[in-house]
Amino acid sequence: MPQVEYRGMLLMVPENDSEFGGYFEAAREHRLVVKKCAGCGLLRFPPGSGCPWCTSLDWTWQEVSGKGAIYSYEIIAHAIQPGFRDLTPYPVIIVELDEQRGAPTPQDGLRLIANLVDAQFQPEAEANVAIGKRVDVVFQDLSPDLSLPQFRLTDEPPAGPVWQFPG
Ligand SMILES: [Zn+2]
Repeated sequence: MPQVEYRGMLLMVPENDSEFGGYFEAAREHRLVVKKCAGCGLLRFPPGSGCPWCTSLDWTWQEVSGKGAIYSYEIIAHAIQPGFRDLTPYPVIIVELDEQRGAPTPQDGLRLIANLVDAQFQPEAEANVAIGKRVDVVFQDLSPDLSLPQFRLTDEPPAGPVWQFPG
């Protein structure tokens, strides 16, 4: 059972975790995976046991590129977890992955909640965070058998206008 102490907390992935077990197995190999419905073929995250669109219970893990754009974000000013207190203020983002943008409806997309970090896995500065900016997955190895998918900004130009909280 992979487990590691992270910022004063015990992180563990139980062997029988049917939701995130495969997700963290792939992360250990620096691959980002989501569930793909065997019924309608749509990807989803969080994993979930059934497809939110067609209710099929059949699925497979599907590797995705890890490339996307910031769909929304917040800046955490008051950390609930004591281990995150010294990181405040830090951003938490919703990433819209390039796969499945606008499906199954124009308002839908494949979206993950994630940390936005810099090259040293420290929180990205608030001034650099904006909706629409391009991001890429990066894996933070906490131990030989537990890695956390995180996201960082890339040099790719945004597809459209960007927006950030008024300073
Ligand atoms: Zn489905």
